[in-house]
Amino acid sequence: MATPRVLPLLFSLALAAGGYTSIYGESMISRAEPRHAKSATAMRCEAPDTLLENATREYKRVALTFDACSSGEYRFDREVYDVLDSMRVRATIFLGGEWVEKNRRTAHMIAANPLFEVATHGYHHPHLPKLSDAEVAWEIAQGQAAVFRELSVFPRLFRAPFGEINARVLAVAKQQGVTMVQYDLPSGDPDPLLKPDKIVRWVVDNARGGSIVVFHINKNGVHTRHTLPKVVAELRSKGFELVTVSELRDQPVTFTDGAYSYDPIVEAAPAGGMRIAAVGSAASK
Ligand SMILES: [Zn+2]
Repeated sequence: MATPRVLPLLFSLALAAGGYTSIYGESMISRAEPRHAKSATAMRCEAPDTLLENATREYKRVALTFDACSSGEYRFDREVYDVLDSMRVRATIFLGGEWVEKNRRTAHMIAANPLFEVATHGYHHPHLPKLSDAEVAWEIAQGQAAVFRELSVFPRLFRAPFGEINARVLAVAKQQGVTMVQYDLPSGDPDPLLKPDKIVRWVVDNARGGSIVVFHINKNGVHTRHTLPKVVAELRSKGFELVTVSELRDQPVTFTDGAYSYDPIVEAAPAGGMRIAAVGSAASK
C-alpha cells in the first residue's frame, strides 16, 4: 500500500523508469485520475518555457493547483472551493473545456474570484501521448477556446490530463504557445488508500520554495476538502506564501495587507535554482 513514507522511493522508481510512469503502482489505484504521473523530464525540451515543474527555490512560495477534469460526472467540489475562499488561498485552477461547458455558472464564479487564476486542462481528458500530433493540438486549442468562449479568459497555462506528457506532446505544446504546467509535488489526493493525515504530512513535509502542488476540485480528490485546511495552515506556519502559478514564476511581490508577504528561504538555493525543466533535469533530481 502506498503511503507517503514509501512515496519517495516510488518517485525514484518512476523517474528511473522514465516515460510517464505513475508514481503509484497501478494495482494500488482504483480510480481513473491522478496517479499523477511524474513527467519525463529526461526528455530534451528546446523551449524551456514550455515545461514548468517548479519555479525558483529562492523564495518560500508554493503554488497550490487544482484540476477540474473533463471526466466522470464533471463534478465540482464546492467544499474545496469554500476552504480556499474562506482561508484566502491564492491558487491556479485548471479547467477542462467540457467541464466548463457543463459547469458554466461555477466556472464564472471561479473566474470572478480574484484569488484564483484560470488555466486550461484541455478539452476532453485523454491520454495525450496516445494521440496524434494533430489531436494533441486540437485538445490544447479547444480547451483554450472553451474557456475563452465562456469566461473571456484566454489561458496559456496548460495541465496535461493525468499529468502525462512526452517529448512529442511538449513539442506540440510549444507550437501552440502554451506552458505545460506539471508539478514537483503531487498530493496523491485521488488515491482512496491515502488517509487525509498522510496527505497532509506528505505535502507539508515535502513542499519546497517554488513547488507546484496538484490537487483536484472535481471530487476526484477523495479527501481533498478534509486535508486542505491543515495543508494551508501548516504551510503558512512554516512561512510559505501561497500563490498562483503565474505569481510563482514572477518576481516576489509583497502584498500590502501583509497576508501574503514572503520570506526568502534561508538556506542556499540548490544549484540551478529555477528548474523550468530543460535538458535532463529529472535525471539529476
Ligand atoms: Zn485531470
